[in-house]
Amino acid sequence: MVDAFSNKLCPCCSGKVFEQCCRPFLSGKKAPKTVKQLMRSRYTAYFLGGCGQYLFATWHPETRKGESPGSLSMKTVDWRGLEILLCKQQGDEGIVEFKAHFIDQEGNAAVHHEYSHFLRIKGLWYYVQPVKPQVAANGQATGQQTPGAAAE
Ligand SMILES: [Zn+2]
Repeated sequence: MVDAFSNKLCPCCSGKVFEQCCRPFLSGKKAPKTVKQLMRSRYTAYFLGGCGQYLFATWHPETRKGESPGSLSMKTVDWRGLEILLCKQQGDEGIVEFKAHFIDQEGNAAVHHEYSHFLRIKGLWYYVQPVKPQVAANGQATGQQTPGAAAE
C-alpha cells in the first residue's frame, strides 16, 4: 500500500508527492519538525493502514492507553481527505484544528472535526489528545466553531 503511493499525491492532501511529503516520516527517515508535518503524517498513516508502529511511536505514552502498533495498523475507517484549519505552535506545544473526511458505515460522507494537542519532548513531536476549542484557543481569538460543525 505504501509503495503504491510513491509517485502519487500524498494522501494528506498537501498537494505534494508522497515521497516528498509524509513518506520520509512514515519510513523513519526523518522526524516531523512541525506539528503540521506530524498531523499530516499521522493522518496518512491512518489512511494507508499498516503504519501502526509510526502511530504508536508518535503518540504520547500517557495518552495512548490500550493501543498497540498492531491495533493502530488496522485500517478501520475509509478516510477521504484532510483539511487543516488551524495550526499553532508555541515552543514545545502545538494545537492543530482539522477536519478529516471519511465514509461512515452507512456509506455516507462524514467529518471528524478535532482540535489536537501536541507536545515536543526531547526534540520529537507527539500527539497527545483532542482538546476543547476553548483550550485550543489559548487565550486568542481562534478556533470558533462554525455553526453546525458539531453536527457534521
Ligand atoms: Zn503528506
